[in-house]
Amino acid sequence: MTRDDWVAVCGEALERKGISHFHPLEICDVGREAHGAILLAPRPHLIQNAIRLCRVLLYLREAVRPTSVLVNSWFRSSIYNDRIGGVSKSMHLTCGAADVVKSGLTPSEVADILESHPESDQFGIGRYKTFTHIDIRGMVGRGAPARW
Ligand SMILES: [Zn+2]
Repeated sequence: MTRDDWVAVCGEALERKGISHFHPLEICDVGREAHGAILLAPRPHLIQNAIRLCRVLLYLREAVRPTSVLVNSWFRSSIYNDRIGGVSKSMHLTCGAADVVKSGLTPSEVADILESHPESDQFGIGRYKTFTHIDIRGMVGRGAPARW
């Protein structure tokens, strides 16, 4: 699947689900261009994971007060994941993980909001100094919750 195919197929899926705040290229490209990595589009079956994660990010967007959610890293191809030393079973390989910042809030406040989500027992949540990692591991059959 080329990037153009991904934009068409994923864009259509997002539109069908009424998700307008995230663009298909935000899901597949963000966080990779700056590293000169080869840009490979995710396989089409991963769109459902991206949509599940979009819903969680929209919850985050609306929490406290509606402000934008900046995604630093979402999908990673295995080549890119290896290059940056990502763990081999990284949820980023599945389109089901993102490293995010919410405008006006600290990473810790963002993590607290994600903890308050009704399905937080399905999540992996990682607290880092400059961003928060969120993934939907329990929704794709992996052990959940996970916290670090
Ligand atoms: Zn992450």
